Amino acid sequence: MITLRGKPVMEGIAIGILRFLEAEARTVEDAGSVECTPEEMKKRFYEIREAVAAECAGLAERARVEVGQSEAEIFATHRLMVLDGDLEDAVLSGIEAGKSLADAIRQAGEGLAAMLAAMEDDYLRARAADAKDVCARLIAALRGERAGVSRLDVPTVLAAADITPAELLQSDRTQLMGFFTADGATGSHTAILARSLALPSAVAVGSLPDRSLEGETVIVDGFTGEVIVSPDTRTLALYCEKQAAVKAERQLEETFRGLPNCTLDGYEVQVVCNIGRGEEAAAVLQNDGGGVGLFRSEFLYLESPDFPSEETQYRVYRRLLEDMGGRPVVIRTMDVGADKQVGYFGIGREENPALGYRSIRICMDRPEILTTQLRALYRASAFGKLSILVPMIISPSELLWVRTKEQEVRDELRAEGITFDPDVKLGIMIETPAAAVVSDLLAKDADFFSIGTNDLTQYALAMDRQNPRIERFYDPHHPAILRMIATVVENAHREGKKVSVCGELARDTSLTPFFLSAGVDSLSVSPPYVLRLRRAIRECDRSKVKMKDFLKT
Ligand code: PEP
Ligand code: MG
Repeated sequence: MITLRGKPVMEGIAIGILRFLEAEARTVEDAGSVECTPEEMKKRFYEIREAVAAECAGLAERARVEVGQSEAEIFATHRLMVLDGDLEDAVLSGIEAGKSLADAIRQAGEGLAAMLAAMEDDYLRARAADAKDVCARLIAALRGERAGVSRLDVPTVLAAADITPAELLQSDRTQLMGFFTADGATGSHTAILARSLALPSAVAVGSLPDRSLEGETVIVDGFTGEVIVSPDTRTLALYCEKQAAVKAERQLEETFRGLPNCTLDGYEVQVVCNIGRGEEAAAVLQNDGGGVGLFRSEFLYLESPDFPSEETQYRVYRRLLEDMGGRPVVIRTMDVGADKQVGYFGIGREENPALGYRSIRICMDRPEILTTQLRALYRASAFGKLSILVPMIISPSELLWVRTKEQEVRDELRAEGITFDPDVKLGIMIETPAAAVVSDLLAKDADFFSIGTNDLTQYALAMDRQNPRIERFYDPHHPAILRMIATVVENAHREGKKVSVCGELARDTSLTPFFLSAGVDSLSVSPPYVLRLRRAIRECDRSKVKMKDFLKT
C-alpha cells in the first residue's frame, strides 16, 4: 500500500484501476516528417490546423452542453490560439529554417507560451499553459492521435504529470472515476473543470507511483488530497463505505437544487459562495449558489509578481460580474498581510503578523493601493450587481476614510465620463471583537456587514487560527463568538442593514438553526456546500430553536 499526499481539488472518493496518461503521447516526436519538402510541410500544417480548430470548436460545444458556458470558453480560446497568426508565422519560419514540422510547432508553442508567461496581465499570463496544450494537440494530430483517453474499459483513475482540460473532457467519463497529477494547481482550468464535472481529484502529489503499478487499485480521497495505491483489504472496505455514504448524501442534496433557501416556518435567507478566483464562478453556478458572498481579491495580489494594475483588476472583476449574470457579487478589497504575505508589499518581518500591518491599515498609509482597486471595482460595476466589502475595519473613522476615497473615485470616473453603478453598496467585515462591540456605531455608516468568523474566533479567543498545536482549543462555537454574532445582527437590523456570515462557520450545519434564529440574512460558503446548507435551512423550524442553548444564557 502506497500513500501519496497532494492538494484536494474536488471532494469525493474515487476508486478505480490505475492508468497512466501517457506522457509520451504529449511530447514531440519527429516521425514521418523527415522526407517532406517545406511546401508539403506547410500544406500539412494548414490541414492539421483546420482539423484541430474544428476539434476545439466541437469540444467547446460539448463543454457548453455538458458543463457550462465558462468551460466552453476554455476551448473557444484554444481554437483562437490554434488559428493565431503569430503562431502560424512562427511555424512557417521554423519550417523555412529547416526544422521538422513537429519541431517547428513545438518551438512556436514554446515561444508563444514564454511570451504569455512574461505578460503583465494576469489573465494572459495564465494562458501560457493553454498555449502549450494547443501545440501538444497540433502535434498529436500530426501523429494521427487525439488527446485524452477516449475509451476506458473499467472504472479508472488517471495519473499523469499533468492533465489538460481537453484530455479530461475527451476522456471516457462513464468509466473515469477521478484523477491525480504529480504537478498542477488547484486554481488551474483542469481543476475548475474537475469541480464542474464533480470528479474527485488531487493535484501536486509530487512524484507519481511506479509505472509497474498500472492496473492496481487506487483510491483518491478528494476531501484530503490523499492517494492510496494498492490499498489493503481493510482500507479498501473503509473507503468503499465512505464512497457509498458520500453518494447517498449527494443524491439527497441534489433534490434540493433549485429550491428556495426557506425554513419550515417561512424565513428565507440568501445562500451565496466564497471564492478566491474569477474562474470559480462556474462552480458557484454549478452548485446552485445564489451569487458570490465573498470574493477574496487578495489572491489576485498573491498570484501577481507586482501590484496588479487597474486594468488587470478591472478585467477580472468585470468577467466575474458578467459570469454571474446579474446575481449579487461581493468583492472584498485586498486583505494582504498576516498569513497572506506578498513580497512586493515590503511588509517585512513582524513579531505578530496577525496583529500587524494588514489590509486597510496598509491602505491608510498607501492610499493609491485602495484607489486603484476602487477604480477597477467601480468601472466593473456597470456589468453586474456589485457590492464592495472592506476587511479589518475596527472603528467608524476608518470606514469614513474609505468612504472619502470611494467618493473621490466616483467623482473622478464621472469627470472622465466612465459609467458605473451609482448604487454600489459598501459594507465591512466584522472580524474583530472591537468591530463587534461597536457594531451599533459602524452600522450607521456601513451599508451591510459580513461576519468573518475565522478571524473573529482567532481574535476573540486569542488563538492563532494557523497554529496546529492549539487547533483543538480553537472553538468557534464558544458562546463569546455566538453572542457577538447575535449582537452584531441586532445592531445592524436596528439600522436597517443586512448581515451575512462568510467565515467557515457558515457551512457548519449544526449552527444553521442558530444563524437563522439570530436573523442572519445571508450565508456564504464554498460552492460544494450550497446544497447541503440549503437542506439544513429547509429542515429548520425557527420556532423550535432554543437560542439559550447556543448563547448559554
Ligand atoms: C474570516 O476571517 O472569517 C474571513 C472570511 O476572512 P479570511 O478567512 O479571508 O480572513
Ligand atoms: Mg478574515
